Amino acid sequence: MNDCIFCKIIKKEIPGKIIYEDDKVLAFMDINPICDGHVLVIPKKHYEDIYAIDNDTFLHMFEIAKKLAKKIMCVLNKEGATFSINYGNMQEVKHLHLHIMPNFKEKPSLTYEEVYDMLTKE
Ligand code: AMP
Ligand code: ZN
Repeated sequence: MNDCIFCKIIKKEIPGKIIYEDDKVLAFMDINPICDGHVLVIPKKHYEDIYAIDNDTFLHMFEIAKKLAKKIMCVLNKEGATFSINYGNMQEVKHLHLHIMPNFKEKPSLTYEEVYDMLTKE
């Protein structure tokens, strides 16, 4: 999908604050975070939504999301997180993505850069 914004981030045609990458999955910070540590996990292959992706790739994506959520919660000192996937008219970007939102009821208290530095140092 040439016009897909997330495919452009995968191809590094536009910048993304990438915190994890392997051959199948990319994770990067949401540009408009609703809480500190709001991260999106996406498959590198373009699947429009949750019904389009195959189970193996989705399982891998979800395993990575679980690992990343633990790390993000630990680094940001949060005790909980929400995993969410929008679909249909609830889904704005039509490239499947899973939101990781640590303590999403708390408003962001750190800058985008501060969170990125914390998640990528080590
Ligand atoms: P939704 O499709 O409703 O699940 O939400 C799409 C999400 O993608 C929103 O939380 C946006 O803030 C986020 N988003 C849109 N464009 C970008 C971008 N270029 N980089 C990072 N996140 C983005
Ligand atoms: Zn795409």
